[in-house]
Amino acid sequence: MRTLRTQLRHPTLIMVRAIGLLSGGLDSTLACRLLKDQGVDIIAVHFSTGFCLNDHRRVIRRRKDQGKDLSNDALRAGANLDIPVEVIDISQEYFQKVLLQPKYGYGSAMNPCLDCRIFMLRKARDLMAEYDAQFVFTGEVLDQRPMSQHFRALQTVEREAGLEGLLLRPLSAKLLPPTIPEKMGWVDREKLLGIRGRSRKVQMALAEKYGIVDYPQPAGGCCVLVDPNFAKRLQDYLLHRPTEVMDLRDILLLKVGRHFRIHDGLKLVVGREEAENNFLRLRFPDRIQLQPVRVKGPLAILDGETRADEDFVVAARLTARYVDKTPNLSAVAISVHSPAGWVRTLEVPPAEEALVRSLQVG
Ligand code: SF4
Repeated sequence: MRTLRTQLRHPTLIMVRAIGLLSGGLDSTLACRLLKDQGVDIIAVHFSTGFCLNDHRRVIRRRKDQGKDLSNDALRAGANLDIPVEVIDISQEYFQKVLLQPKYGYGSAMNPCLDCRIFMLRKARDLMAEYDAQFVFTGEVLDQRPMSQHFRALQTVEREAGLEGLLLRPLSAKLLPPTIPEKMGWVDREKLLGIRGRSRKVQMALAEKYGIVDYPQPAGGCCVLVDPNFAKRLQDYLLHRPTEVMDLRDILLLKVGRHFRIHDGLKLVVGREEAENNFLRLRFPDRIQLQPVRVKGPLAILDGETRADEDFVVAARLTARYVDKTPNLSAVAISVHSPAGWVRTLEVPPAEEALVRSLQVG
């Protein structure tokens, strides 16, 4: 592949290539479409942080998700646009370098949006040489999100990502200082847009014009870090688990079931339906598992260390609370299976509402 410098010496050979961040949402899809229409050769990249709800739904397949299209939004958008998409797993690094101590803090939940954008755009910058790309672009819209998309935030992200002048936001370009791709004539600024704010009216009209029908609703993507309930579980996790022993399987567990903190070192996770029960059983065989005997009900797992027999009783009572269609049972038999091989059965009354409320996390 010829470099841009070579191409500029031979103008007839000019082919501009750009790396675009593609979430698969409407904005990033439109950004790709706008530049593709200008003849830019696009390499779309999708960074997988480990916090995308759709990825998780695909694995669990809850009843309510049956029949839904849970395919990867970015891959679907790339296929519709006929552009290559590279999916890059950054989950391990993201957890340590972005989520635990974000320089710019969190948004309304546990979403470190500014640090997240900077991190991803640095990765995109690093890919420029590999793909012989001349600039990077995103589907960001000025003032669409309070934390990460106001004017100063966009400038901060561009600077900290090491992309000064080389980061194009085609949807809001006319409201932002001209970038090198515009100044050099690699893209025509006049054909870019000047969208601002949270309304999606313009984007939806463009989607209709371009025949783009397959995009996620509502806007905001599938990032579970913006979910306040997930945020409470994550905060609880960060509070009780020393960072050196955190692992991504724990994060996976935060997305499943009802969570109860029994004490500082112990949590119970109770499946909410058959798909979650199966997921817990199969993915966490190394944890103590609880299940009702003779009646239908959830599978629950203990996450952490038990300190006293009372811990098993509390866990069994919480599990008993969610047995199927037996609200008036005064006692339920719950079997407790240890990965070490021992099994015991406890007859317990289901936990009362006050106990449930006092221990539930998120
Ligand atoms: S919503 Fe999630 S994926 Fe999107 S910028 Fe914020 S932290 Fe990153």
